[in-house]
Amino acid sequence: MNIEHIIKTRKCCGCGTCAGICPKGAIEMKINKMGLYIPEIDKKKCSNCGLCNKVCPQIDKKVDFNELNNSIFNKTPEDKFIGNYISGYVGYSTDKNLRFEASSGGMITQILISALESGIIDGALVTRMKRDTPLIPEPFIARTNEEIISAIGSKYCPVPVNIMLKEIINSKGDEKFAVVGLPCHIIGIRKAEILIPKIRERIVLHLGIFCSGTESFFGTKFILKKKGIKTEKVNSIKYRGMGWPGYMQIRCTNKIVKIFHHDLLYYGGIFPFFKNPTCILCLKKGYILNELADISFGDAWGTIQENIDALGSSFIISRTNIGEKILAITKEHSEIKIIKLSKKDCYLHNGIKWKANQDSIGNRLYFHYLYFINKYAIYQNKNIQKFFLLILYNILILKSKLFRNKQKIK
Ligand SMILES: Cc1cc2nc3c(=O)[nH]c(=O)nc-3n(C[C@H](O)[C@H](O)[C@H](O)COP(=O)(O)OP(=O)(O)OC[C@H]3O[C@@H](n4cnc5c(N)ncnc54)[C@H](O)[C@@H]3O)c2cc1C
Ligand code: SF4
Ligand code: SF4
Ligand code: SF4
Repeated sequence: MNIEHIIKTRKCCGCGTCAGICPKGAIEMKINKMGLYIPEIDKKKCSNCGLCNKVCPQIDKKVDFNELNNSIFNKTPEDKFIGNYISGYVGYSTDKNLRFEASSGGMITQILISALESGIIDGALVTRMKRDTPLIPEPFIARTNEEIISAIGSKYCPVPVNIMLKEIINSKGDEKFAVVGLPCHIIGIRKAEILIPKIRERIVLHLGIFCSGTESFFGTKFILKKKGIKTEKVNSIKYRGMGWPGYMQIRCTNKIVKIFHHDLLYYGGIFPFFKNPTCILCLKKGYILNELADISFGDAWGTIQENIDALGSSFIISRTNIGEKILAITKEHSEIKIIKLSKKDCYLHNGIKWKANQDSIGNRLYFHYLYFINKYAIYQNKNIQKFFLLILYNILILKSKLFRNKQKIK
């Protein structure tokens, strides 16, 4: 059986694992009319080997975390919210430019540079935006410091990172790689490692990003439209960076447009309503903290570091010996500053708090509300969708105006 049933039941998150490992090259990732990446199967090429089905992170109601935890860490997690882990930290790159350009402290970029320079890896699977079509992301294998830096910053659009597993499977000699991905990417890779020894041998470092969902390409297009920018006028787009929490920067032929992180058009309002509904189900399963990575990274939301300065810091969970080793090497070269956290301090992080309260009635209602809205925002025909989103956007504007007036009265 192939992954056709995942596509039909709209459970696909567009991670690209199936396309990356198909031995017949029968799967290609295409952007569909909902603005999401979805696999397209060439039935003539498919031999029904079933491999794609086995690596898909969305195949089960809940991925068998016990089995995967046992194969990676040799144990099931003692802490059911953080997952298997050795230590928690907050930290940032000591390179101020890099830290300024990054999402939350530049830890991932700095660690990759350190791993490359110290010979632990020959390349890293990272994601940048395409130069010729700047609204489309491009996962690729970076083999120089410059290439690693070209991928700095979060991409808030669908990214089929794991299509590049093909390149790792076809790599020559004894090359070693790091991968950077969201929880669904890392789950797909870990599942593929169990079935395909070459992937297991070649990938030596898994850097996981926390994730509360990615937005459809419609999210970016909505922002462009509201700002009066034609897509063909966009020369480059950067979703995060320029300090913390930073802003989205759209470079056009005649102007540069900045949209601050907490803007109503962005994370302060409408943008999260463009999420792939599969992401809401994923959140419900509690995958947010990227539990199967060697090291997981999030913004320092809620931690002791959150308000210390405007350049940004990451919240870091190191889970394996290789994770601890690469953190120690990077620190030794004075390329990062990290502060170890107690368990109590780790629990201040928004993501862990979210997981710990996941089953509360309030959160369950919130999940249903979010799923409903995202499903209607994404799956409707274009006119209903536009109408629905405009109403929602105007309600948010009205709400913020009322809130501001209330504050003035006080
Ligand atoms: C879609 C998304 C949702 C997130 N949600 C949360 C959250 O809810 N809570 C939280 O605390 N943190 C979240 N984060 C993580 C946070 O924003 C930072 O990405 C993380 O802390 C790493 O920061 P950094 O400065 O070390 O990364 P950088 O040094 O800027 O490097 C970022 C790396 O991530 C890779 N990358 C960027 N976007 C993607 C993508 N979409 N898919 C795969 N790889 C990508 C790039 O290739 C690059 O190597 C999210 C990130 C993303 C991309
Ligand atoms: S069943 Fe096998 S051949 Fe067919 S698409 Fe999946 S991986 Fe490819
Ligand atoms: S492996 Fe990823 S891209 Fe392929 S069907 Fe499953 S979720 Fe979709
Ligand atoms: S919430 Fe994040 S990890 Fe989960 S399916 Fe969506 S993009 Fe992947």
